[in-house]
Amino acid sequence: MNRTPSQFRILASENIADRRLRRTFQSATGHALGQRAQSVQLVPEWEDLRERAHRIKEEAVEHLDFYLEKLEASVIRRGGRVFWARDASEASSYVVDLCRRLQASTVVKSKSMAAEEIGLADALEAAGVQPVETDLGEFIIQVAGETPSHIIAPALHMTRQQIGNLFHEKFGIPYTDIPAELCAFARQRLRREFLSARLGISGVNFAAADTGTIAIVENEGNARLCTSLPRVHVAIMGLEKVIPRFSDLPLFLRLLARSSTGQKQTSYVSMISGPRREGEWDGPEEFHLVLLDNGRSDILSDPRVRRSLYCIRCGACLNTCPIYQRVGGHSYGSVYSGPIGSVLTPLFQGLEAAKDLPYASSLCGSCSNICPVKIDLHHQLLWLREKLVSRRATPWQERLAMSLFAAGMKDPALYRMGSALLRLFLKVSGKSNRPFTIPGWSPTRDFPALAQTSFKQWWESSRQQGEGP
Ligand code: SF4
Repeated sequence: MNRTPSQFRILASENIADRRLRRTFQSATGHALGQRAQSVQLVPEWEDLRERAHRIKEEAVEHLDFYLEKLEASVIRRGGRVFWARDASEASSYVVDLCRRLQASTVVKSKSMAAEEIGLADALEAAGVQPVETDLGEFIIQVAGETPSHIIAPALHMTRQQIGNLFHEKFGIPYTDIPAELCAFARQRLRREFLSARLGISGVNFAAADTGTIAIVENEGNARLCTSLPRVHVAIMGLEKVIPRFSDLPLFLRLLARSSTGQKQTSYVSMISGPRREGEWDGPEEFHLVLLDNGRSDILSDPRVRRSLYCIRCGACLNTCPIYQRVGGHSYGSVYSGPIGSVLTPLFQGLEAAKDLPYASSLCGSCSNICPVKIDLHHQLLWLREKLVSRRATPWQERLAMSLFAAGMKDPALYRMGSALLRLFLKVSGKSNRPFTIPGWSPTRDFPALAQTSFKQWWESSRQQGEGP
């Protein structure tokens, strides 16, 4: 199903009404948060690590041109090739051309948010190349014809019973909902693809500028197979994945594993520095690194939202967000969901195209508190709201109400008159003693009943009776 960010309100309403889906999300995110909390507790210097990571990301992003050119030189020095892609179409075309040159009819692919962002799977299919997702979650949603609902757990919205039924229907295997049996089936099926594919595609978690090493973290071993068995490996990374030094990597690996899955370390951390060299037994003959801009330069040019480029895609802000927990990942109509998605999607796709997303937050600040690289997400959301208001992109009724409210707050006489009129209106309509709703604004949540007297009236009468301060 093709969902877009402009459908947020509709999709969120549908998903909130789906009790099973809500339970699935609340239990999965609650479990992830519990695992994270236990693992973070064991690191007394956690806050110090967050601060250091923030500073390193700041250094990388503030000098992005310098570190990207350094990364390019390092990769080329080690025998790799680098392609700078301005947008999704350039990045996809580069990979499709590689497939044509290799006469590859299928490619194996490990999990990559950048590849999702550019719609690489669709571009490959349109060119007659079958992309095979090899991450278990991605494999499940590819078979289901779905899109990811979480940055690190793409099939989070599905129960094991649904997955059992899916495999039974699509592959004709006997129904089972035992995770080990489902995994064994997927593993066996995918092994054939790994052995025959000429091209492997991966994402990048971090790329060290000084050595040209890319790091990929995972728990299934599929990314390692994707990057070492096929003749050619192409890695796609957003520009912001560069870090200045290889020696910075351990810090980020610690933060990422604990924040995302609550592990001390993921089962596999692959460090890839170019293609196979003479005398080496395994690895690809060619290594290509695609540096994807696709709107990142524009984000970089705006100091108020630049910090969103620090993101290491751990998913913790999604898990802790009370909105994400209730509406689920598909409501956002974008590859990126949750608080970081509500910041990035309007920046990537245009503010008007995703104007509800900056409002998909209670601004409680839980996302900013949990973020391992200390991105002030709720401030960024507030800033996007400010931009929407200044572009007059909010509904006229809201603009009118806010103008009246602002005028009243600036003028005590107007404020007194407005509150007196409101009290009178509620009295006449018989609603003065009970909570009330404002059509179009609070259909599901009542405003508390207004106090019978204003604060000023209460203050004056208390003083006259000698009770006030
Ligand atoms: S914004 Fe922070 S918490 Fe959210 S995914 Fe990115 S790094 Fe993780």
